[in-house]
This record gives sequence, structure tokens and C-alpha cells, in this order.
Amino acid sequence: MDFAFSEEQEMFLAMFRDFSAKEVAPQAEELDHEEALPLDALRKAAQQGFLGATLPEKYFGAELDYLSYVLLVETLAADSVSMAVMLATHVSLAAMSILENGDEAQKEAWLPVMSAGEAIGAFALTEPDAGSDAVYQGGSGWQTRATPEGDDVVLDGVKSWVANGEVAGIFVVFARGPEGGDAFLVPADASGLTLGYREPTLGLRSAAFNRLYLEKCRVPASNRLGAPGAGVEIARQAQDRMAIALGAAGLGVAASSLDVASQFATERVQFGVPIAEKQAIQRYVAEVLTEVEALRYLVYHAAWAVDRGDGFSRDASVVKAFGAKVARNATNQMLQVLGGYGYMEDYPMARKYRDARALGIIGGPTELHHVRIAQDVFAKRDVDVVP
Ligand SMILES: Cc1cc2nc3c(=O)[nH]c(=O)nc-3n(C[C@H](O)[C@H](O)[C@H](O)COP(=O)(O)OP(=O)(O)OC[C@H]3O[C@@H](n4cnc5c(N)ncnc54)[C@H](O)[C@@H]3O)c2cc1C
Repeated sequence: MDFAFSEEQEMFLAMFRDFSAKEVAPQAEELDHEEALPLDALRKAAQQGFLGATLPEKYFGAELDYLSYVLLVETLAADSVSMAVMLATHVSLAAMSILENGDEAQKEAWLPVMSAGEAIGAFALTEPDAGSDAVYQGGSGWQTRATPEGDDVVLDGVKSWVANGEVAGIFVVFARGPEGGDAFLVPADASGLTLGYREPTLGLRSAAFNRLYLEKCRVPASNRLGAPGAGVEIARQAQDRMAIALGAAGLGVAASSLDVASQFATERVQFGVPIAEKQAIQRYVAEVLTEVEALRYLVYHAAWAVDRGDGFSRDASVVKAFGAKVARNATNQMLQVLGGYGYMEDYPMARKYRDARALGIIGGPTELHHVRIAQDVFAKRDVDVVP
């Protein structure tokens, strides 16, 4: 067992940190307050090859292993969870769904422009009445319909909270066709596609979540990803990949809140001494550090399993559920260390706290990841766990 990064991974990590320090951190607070998207940083991320992080060089990707990619997500999330979520939606949900399931024409058409940042990807699965159960029972809860018409397919339905919606060039849209759940590539300029307004959110305010309306939205039938009826499996695999990326985002925001609060504790003097000398503060810091380090090894191990080609579905859920818990706990405890300053929007802690809360919902709620873990535990004992 070797816990060290390779030389290449160390080099990537240094590059990610440098990028985030220069292009993400300086704007993160202001963008959040203005509820503006990090478009400049995304453009520069594309120039660095980060928007094609895990894609093969053939499609102008950086061909990073998944572990290096989660280091990128972790690093960005330390400065802005919004930026990390936008990038991970584009890479893990959209681009990799095309890479893993697309035919050569689909890959040629979309992956190079996605690597270049000319088409941002989005993933439209959730519907007003299909949330936690979206990938259960063959997607039977999906109201969005795909009706074949000659060489085309006509899509009708509504999708909720589509991350990257208003800046997306390409949507992976899930709909029920005659043979079950399907996934389609729907360009943003497809006729019959309309985006709703950006949903106001508790956190992640420099990311965009929009409703997607499909009204007689016509795309060529050749835009279907994979075989007829493969949509649910495509969604499930994408969610597993995303779960690890979101665990990495939780790691980034948790570790950075520990950093901010421990620095503050050395500077804030009460009762004549820095509060870092108070045992209550030391305990908060010690507990959070312990959880952060436990999460770190779970996240890196799950990414390593992806790179090895091992099954990683259960571990993805472990990482996702634990990552959300650690991020919420860490930002909460570290906000407490800052006292009143933690509650003020002048400090980054309030933003981290609001952003971390999303991680227990986005990418499937914690309760459903617990069901997935329990399924694995009880399968060995012939007990069928249903959600
Ligand atoms: C910020 C944000 C971004 C998002 N981005 C996207 C995106 O890009 N694309 C996309 O398709 N979706 C996206 N989503 C949707 C997200 O995946 C869903 O919110 C999530 O899957 C939960 O669905 P729901 O909100 O309808 O909750 P519900 O399914 O209504 O669940 C409500 C509560 O009931 C619990 N619950 C439900 N069923 C069970 C059960 N069987 N056992 C125990 N508890 C249960 C849930 O855990 C939850 O606590 C996003 C959501 C958010 C908040």
C-alpha cells in the first residue's frame, strides 16, 4: 500500500493550487455576493485543459486520471464550491456520459468543444415529480417523454434545477421512450428548448440552477446516447462519478474552513490570549481535522478505484454521504470559532457554510446514498433493501 501521489500528480496539484489562487480565490466572495457566474475563471480553466480534464487527448482533453481530477475539484472547492460544482457537472455528469456512452460521431461533435469550453455541459435528470427516485424502477417516474417521429425524436417535459443551465451549450436530457428510459444529447439551440429563470438558492450563489422546458423539442434520433432503454444506467453511472467529485468538493470546503478558522483563532484575542489557547477551540479544531483526514482517504481511495477499473458504486455513496456530513459539520464548527465574524458576510466562512449545505442534496440526498450502502451490506445476507 502506497499513500504517496505520483510525481505527476504532485505537479498537477501544484498547478491546480496556483490556478485557483490566481483565478478563483480573488473573485469568489464578490461573485457570490453579486450572484454572478465565474465565467472568466471557466474560460481560463478551459485554456488550462481543465474542462476536458478526464477526456482523452484525441478530444483535446488533458487525459488526467480520476484521482488527479478529484484533486482539481477539491482545490477549486477550497476557494469556491460554486466553481467546483460547475466544473464537475460539466466533466463528471455531461462530458463523461458522452465519453462512456456516445458513438464516435457524438464524441467528435461534442467532446472537443467541451474541452475548449465552447460548449458547457449540463445534465437534466430531476423533474418536479422525480427527485430521489429518479433512477429507481427504470425511471418510471419520469414525465418527460421521447416520441419518435421519422428520423427525429420529440421531447416534451420539464427538468428541475439543471446546474449550468443558462450557460450550457449541450444538455444530457433523460426521457422515457417506447423502450424505456433514454438519454439524449440536446443542444442549447434546439427548437422547443427554453430555460427558466435562475433559481435563487441558499448557497452556491455563483453557480446557476435553472428549469429546463422541453416543448415539442426536436432532435435527430441519432442524438440518443447508448442503446434504447439505457438511460437509467447512464444516469446511475454518472451519479456515481459525480458522487466522488462532490465528496472531493466537501473535502475542499471542509479543509479550507479549518484553515480559515485556525488562522483566525491565532489572531483573535479574548481574555488576554489568542482563542487558539482555549481548550474548547482546540477541540473543535481537532475534531474537524480528524474528520477531514478520514474523508481525504475515502475520497482518494474511491478515485483510485475508478482509475483501477474496480467497481466503485458503494464507495461513491460512502464518499458522497460522508463528504456532505464532514463539510456541513466542519463549516458549522469553524463558523463557531469565528464567533460573530463567522456570521458576517465580510468573512468567507458564511459562504462556505451556505455552500456546504448543498452537498447533502445535490447529486442525490444523503438518505438515498445510505440506502445504496445498506443495499450493499445486506445483499450479502440475502436481504433486499428497497428505498
Ligand atoms: C443545488 C442543486 C443542484 C442540482 N443540480 C442538478 C442537476 O444539475 N441535474 C439534475 O438532474 N438534478 C439536480 N439537482 C436535483 C437533485 O439531484 C435532487 O434535489 C435530489 O436528487 C433530491 O430530489 P428532491 O429534491 O426532489 O427531493 P425528494 O426526492 O422530494 O426528497 C425529499 C426528502 O425525502 C427524502 N427521501 C426521499 N425518498 C426517500 C427514501 N426512500 N428513504 C429515505 N428518505 C427519502 C430525501 O432524502 C429528502 O431528504 C440539484 C439539486 C440542488 C439542490
